[in-house]
Amino acid sequence: MAGENIKMSKEVKILGLIIDDKLTFNSHVAQITKKTIDLFKRVDRAAKTTWGIHPEITRTVYTAVVEPITLYAAAAWAPAGKKLSVQAQLKTIQRKFAQKIIGSYRTVSYEAATVLAGLLPLDLRLKEAAALYETRKHGTLPELKDIEVEKKVPYTEGPHPAKALRTGYTQLHTEEEIAAIETETKIFTDGSKIEGKTGAAVVLIDDGKNKTKKYKLANHCSVYQAELLAINSALEVLGKSGKRQAAILSDSRSALEAITSTRTKNRLAHEARKKIESCREAGQEVQLYWVKAHAGLQGNEAADTAAKEAALNLKCKPHYNTCPISYVKRLLREKSKAEWQTRYQNSENASVTKIFFSSPEQAYRAFKNGRLTNKLTQMLTGHGGFSEYLHRFKCKGDPTCPCDQQSTQDVRHCLLECPRHALARLDLEQVIGTGKITMEDLSQELRCTTAPAIK
Ligand SMILES: [Zn+2]
Repeated sequence: MAGENIKMSKEVKILGLIIDDKLTFNSHVAQITKKTIDLFKRVDRAAKTTWGIHPEITRTVYTAVVEPITLYAAAAWAPAGKKLSVQAQLKTIQRKFAQKIIGSYRTVSYEAATVLAGLLPLDLRLKEAAALYETRKHGTLPELKDIEVEKKVPYTEGPHPAKALRTGYTQLHTEEEIAAIETETKIFTDGSKIEGKTGAAVVLIDDGKNKTKKYKLANHCSVYQAELLAINSALEVLGKSGKRQAAILSDSRSALEAITSTRTKNRLAHEARKKIESCREAGQEVQLYWVKAHAGLQGNEAADTAAKEAALNLKCKPHYNTCPISYVKRLLREKSKAEWQTRYQNSENASVTKIFFSSPEQAYRAFKNGRLTNKLTQMLTGHGGFSEYLHRFKCKGDPTCPCDQQSTQDVRHCLLECPRHALARLDLEQVIGTGKITMEDLSQELRCTTAPAIK
């Protein structure tokens, strides 16, 4: 070019993503690994098992920094996550952080560390992030078949910012405040999700008479969608009635916030805004109000009851069927969890952890309040001050327990047999009230809030 030789390059970095000529993304993964391991080294200096920064801070660093770095541009390179070499690198990153979070020895396996720390395997997270991106882009998910997924309203569809509708809402707390509204009609709206079913209702109060309209939403719809649908329907009712002014009263602050925000990207909120505009153009005055829910306010209670009835009893084709993104997320997470469970069960590692927890879910439930101490971790992984462990890693001559020089000193021996811990065991049996502790008791649901501390 202009007498200058330009060398061919095998890689190009665009917006932080390294793309190579064969689309293997190996160098991108290598870069992620280097970046996150460097980060780990810095965390490692400050976070030790018995002192230093709290394990929960390490967890925060992991979820807020490491995961986003790893999942960046996931949709572009996610197919590379199927390769074993890439999985191995992701495992290295995650294992280090998981071990730090649970305060375990460095020899603890990837499977045991992630299960106890409650960290979903990174390659599964990668798959999730990519699937979510695709769903957001195309509005469909293979698992959902024909059901459409709610997409954001693109900028091009919205009005010019200078012409955007300006509106707000007022908060009302008592019956007197509601009675004081000067308007021709009051329309109460509510949405409800009950027993996995969703419904919405509109109650129009005109000259002291109640007119109710009920709407059915598909089961996967959220309460938020139901609330927004109800407000939309109220606006429709108003448009048809030809009234000059009306007050719409909803108990959903988030729905009202979405409707009154000029920057909303929600489809239903966007439509409600358009309806308010056309009402105004037709000379109708619309006021929005927030009322306190479950405060015995008559109109709101009537709308609430009607919405619940709509959810449970209305037998018709749903008036609204679009699936919220929150449902898609839950669906993808369920799939990942099932896969994680299979991997955990089929893995040769984590044999001691499996005695206590049959599934990652069970471990997650036990430690979601963060009661895992490093002593407890030693017990749950078998990697700790046990002769058997020390012998295995060539730190001790023999694997036996000093109690009888015969038995192997491992987790099982310490918890169930060793006479040196008989007193503590007796105390524990007293608290639990099950009689002699057996192997089966160990796999019972572990509740760290009630169980006494293990010394
Ligand atoms: Zn012993």
